[in-house]
Amino acid sequence: MKIFFATSEMVPYAKTGGLADVCGSLPGELTDLGHEVCVVMPKYKKIDAAKFGLKKIIEGIEVPLGGEKKIAKIFSARYQDKVTVYFVDNGEYFGRDELYGTPMGDYPDNDCRFIFFQRAALELMKAVDFKPDVIHCHDWQSGLIPVYLKTVYKDDPFFRKTKSFFTIHNLAYQGNFPPDTLPTAGLGWEEFQMDRLEFYGKMSFLKGGLIYSDAVTTVSERYAEEIQTKEYGAGLEGVLTKRKSDLYGIVNGIDLEEWNPEKDPDLAVRYSVQDAEKKQENKKALQKENRLEVNAEIPVFGIITRLADQKGLDILAPVLEDFARKLNAHFVLLGTGEEKYHKILREEMAKYPKKFAFHIMFDAKMAKRIYAGSDIFLMPSCYEPCGLGQLISMRYGTIPLVRETGGLADTVSDFNPKTGKGNGFVFREYTSEKLFKTMERAVELFRKPKVWRQIVENAMQCDFSWNASAKKYVALYKQVKKVPLA
Ligand code: ADP
Repeated sequence: MKIFFATSEMVPYAKTGGLADVCGSLPGELTDLGHEVCVVMPKYKKIDAAKFGLKKIIEGIEVPLGGEKKIAKIFSARYQDKVTVYFVDNGEYFGRDELYGTPMGDYPDNDCRFIFFQRAALELMKAVDFKPDVIHCHDWQSGLIPVYLKTVYKDDPFFRKTKSFFTIHNLAYQGNFPPDTLPTAGLGWEEFQMDRLEFYGKMSFLKGGLIYSDAVTTVSERYAEEIQTKEYGAGLEGVLTKRKSDLYGIVNGIDLEEWNPEKDPDLAVRYSVQDAEKKQENKKALQKENRLEVNAEIPVFGIITRLADQKGLDILAPVLEDFARKLNAHFVLLGTGEEKYHKILREEMAKYPKKFAFHIMFDAKMAKRIYAGSDIFLMPSCYEPCGLGQLISMRYGTIPLVRETGGLADTVSDFNPKTGKGNGFVFREYTSEKLFKTMERAVELFRKPKVWRQIVENAMQCDFSWNASAKKYVALYKQVKKVPLA
């Protein structure tokens, strides 16, 4: 099969979260299963064109935007000698420092930027004559592609057999814009209805993906169920319930080569489940790097996250005082996001420098050191479509402490000292009290080296490879039929 991924981020080129990891590894897995896969993404200023060997292959594709025509230059690169990646370039839209916005807010013209990207993506497929069996779209930034296939390109023979898949990585980011965006996108007002693109008076790119695609998937089975409820549906639960029979949950894997404590060049010492005690060296290095007391007996909590309410920061922030006063533990944090959290974290760290080391930044190498050097990895998310942090941390023998929701519920099971089963710590009620109690429970077990060793083994032995999930995608690509718009 010929498969085209349309995404706004991909490892190793540009990343703000798990979407980039998925689009960096799933295409290669699909190639290994015998399929031909290409990816298209924007060419952001951040992307190091020289390092990744990007080559300009098309000088200018004309892209209609409102009444105007804009020009997209197209670059391409091969990734891991398996996947061709196309980059849509336009300085006006993508020559900025960030992908979507700054801590102060989203770029105000994100509608134009991503309309441009999506139309350019479709025109590019024609220009390079890659006729996909499936266009696999991800999140709101490519939610209009399924819309275009059923409207503007409906009778285009080039896409006659092309099915569209839409994967929800996070339902809360919806790409909702004023109604005027509709003509900018080249769509007629007949699409601006409640059972189409209209969403509380706005035009929603995400809703487009949910309604016009031939199949909708999301990144864990639990989240696929949750988003059909009012609590987790972000206003779209009705739409999702309507599409229930076309909605599938397929859990993400991780790239076992990229995340590999046996080979990771960024670690102080490499290790595997057989010699997990060497992990201690990484812990020492982490404590030292963070000017914390170097002491194997003090448990280190780690967290690597976007600093947003979704990630449980609103229940985590209030426990910092108790953590500092009551727990003999360290806490290393790496993250960026909402300004209010930057402020709280800076204040707490100034108050308790012997307990806390908080880094307000994005740093892929430091992330590796925290995954390897911590004992316990926190993910107290309010909701979590899949979550990769818990999978990566388990691979590094760092025990996840998570709230029971979405992909966290599907991948982490609470350790039971009686049976010796379980790979983490799980709590259900979304409160600071429950979170802190679970932290205390983790510290208690940490003090029992034999038991702890068992949990570490359980975690490191879990299989989070892409293999099974990639096969599920292929089966669905084949099974799903092109469905006419209701
Ligand atoms: P989400 O996509 O909702 O942000 P995931 O858990 O699915 O959350 O994926 C987050 C990914 O981004 C992980 O690979 C994590 O290591 C990485 N990450 C998040 N914040 C940072 C940061 N500040 N520095 C480095 N890596 C980060």
